[in-house]
Amino acid sequence: MVESFESQAREMPQHVVAARARYHAGLPPTYRPWLHLATPFACGAAVIAGCVACLEGPALWDMCVVPATWIFSIAAEWRFHRDLLHRRVAPLQLLYDKHTVSHHSLFVEGAMQIGSARDFRSILFPWWAAPILAVALAPPAALLGLVLGADVGRLFLATGMLYVMTYEALHLTYHLSPSHPLRRLPGVERLALHHALHHDPRRMQRENLGVTSTLWDRVRGTIAR
Ligand SMILES: [Zn+2]
Ligand SMILES: [Zn+2]
Repeated sequence: MVESFESQAREMPQHVVAARARYHAGLPPTYRPWLHLATPFACGAAVIAGCVACLEGPALWDMCVVPATWIFSIAAEWRFHRDLLHRRVAPLQLLYDKHTVSHHSLFVEGAMQIGSARDFRSILFPWWAAPILAVALAPPAALLGLVLGADVGRLFLATGMLYVMTYEALHLTYHLSPSHPLRRLPGVERLALHHALHHDPRRMQRENLGVTSTLWDRVRGTIAR
């Protein structure tokens, strides 16, 4: 990884080199990258384990909420990426600043790779995002539970958290060395290329907005050609 990063660094545009130097200089000394990485997965795993432990025996019909939630999440992710990460909308300007201003200036097509674990901070959502999302998903899960049965609500919440974990894992993987073992998992390299094209500044506002899947870019006609 180091060797390949060094060859990437030699070809890195000067504005990216400067952006990364500024970013590293501003990193808080207390930042713990591995703790940051562990938080969404520990939070997601705890919520999923709690939901699964409480299942009373879902019927096959109840299980349909799993693919339905997954597809809904793909669509929601696409819209969130386009409308909140690439547009400055009050009071959520922080999302735009962290994504469009910071993430997209540190990684451009051809210079996608992180240099070290300290760069996790520029890729992952803030550590508190997964716990907040779990809390935010609880009311719709409770509503689904009331209307369609408690197991449906639990499966909805568990699937939502699994989606968040998948998003974080895949996005980070796209920014690892192309020779990293995770990049060899089926389908990952194709998605990494899809995401690399999104990091082209000419495309980022409108193309390849899906991170975990290309599905909604195909549905909405926003896939890069
Ligand atoms: Zn990215
Ligand atoms: Zn983006």
